[in-house]
Amino acid sequence: MNLEGFQQELVAYASEIGIDKIGFASAEPFYNLRHRLIRQQQLKYQSGFEEPDIDKRTRPDLLLDEAVSIIAIAIAYPSKMKDAPQGVRGARRGIFSRSSWGKDYHAALRERLTLLEAFIAAHYPEARMRSMVDTGELSDRAVAERAGIGWSAKNTNIITPEFGSYVYLGEMITNIPFRFDEPMEDQCGDCRLCIDSCPTGAIVEGGQLNAQRCVSFLTQTKGFLPDEFRTVIGNRLYGCDTCQTVCPKNKRKANQIHPEFDPDPEIAKPLLEPLLTISNKEFKAKFGYVSGSWRGKKPIQRNAILALAHFKEASAVPALIELLIRDERPVIRGTAAWAIGKIGTDEGLLALKQAEQREQDEEVLEEIQKGLAFFAEELKG
Ligand code: SF4
Ligand code: SF4
Repeated sequence: MNLEGFQQELVAYASEIGIDKIGFASAEPFYNLRHRLIRQQQLKYQSGFEEPDIDKRTRPDLLLDEAVSIIAIAIAYPSKMKDAPQGVRGARRGIFSRSSWGKDYHAALRERLTLLEAFIAAHYPEARMRSMVDTGELSDRAVAERAGIGWSAKNTNIITPEFGSYVYLGEMITNIPFRFDEPMEDQCGDCRLCIDSCPTGAIVEGGQLNAQRCVSFLTQTKGFLPDEFRTVIGNRLYGCDTCQTVCPKNKRKANQIHPEFDPDPEIAKPLLEPLLTISNKEFKAKFGYVSGSWRGKKPIQRNAILALAHFKEASAVPALIELLIRDERPVIRGTAAWAIGKIGTDEGLLALKQAEQREQDEEVLEEIQKGLAFFAEELKG
């Protein structure tokens, strides 16, 4: 079989194994991305989760000798939840972002890439391949853009005409001289809805993100959340979808294609209060299979406390007081103190005063004082 015919067979096979879009790009260095990454480093806009070596992120030849082409793949994920439970007073709920609904996408992409590798190896014995997803060195988005999967949009996502930006991306570097696809034209035009709707102004200009201000990144940090973001994250437990949900290109992209990504509403939109006392074992059993659990339970619990403060959920104050008294983790005690102050009940005030006498940790004490200051402001008001 000639290469052209093999490429066609590969595309057909990709569709058979649940890859919704596939594209082929050259493995030339990513010069534009390199400039952008250097600029991001200078501005301190990175999240810190990314590969720090800019050469590795932009030079496929450093990741695979004889790199000639990159295969980009996309799998669509759903944007709508059937029978989504509504939070009510006394039983508030948080939310995981859509990319963390259903099975962890890393595993889903890896399974497909492994099948693709086996298919290629069986038909093209001299093939050399290296696959990666998300946590790999290359930028999934830069590869997808070059391979014509979609355009690189102002909200910094890749938008596909078929599935909007609700797609997981992965890639495989190969030594096979495939025919390359053409990149897609930008279709954002004059629109700037995502920039104007971002709750923290994290999209600095179309296509550039200050990850340090992005709620999606902030929900994944483990320390105290800086004050300016505490009231902004709302009930988000993991991730943020605002710049995707406002995007007109995502309208009517329900993407109910792969049952493995269908959300369990009790996981994707869980009750907040039970999260405060969940054990490691329970957390793993319940949330371990979704990608949003990758940082463990602490950030999710901290965000759940902030979400209860956001709702001013007075019925949660006894549970928050328990955390303030007994939790071993300063971030949890301190965030609970802040939340108790925000909610503002009499028992909360008493608990904060008592904790102020007892607490030894400087940072937690500071949070207790912030909590007490909310009461003072309230009185003044
Ligand atoms: S994910 Fe949220 S915070 Fe981050 S850029 Fe989009 S809208 Fe802004
Ligand atoms: S909201 Fe508008 S500017 Fe932003 S990504 Fe969508 S189309 Fe582009």
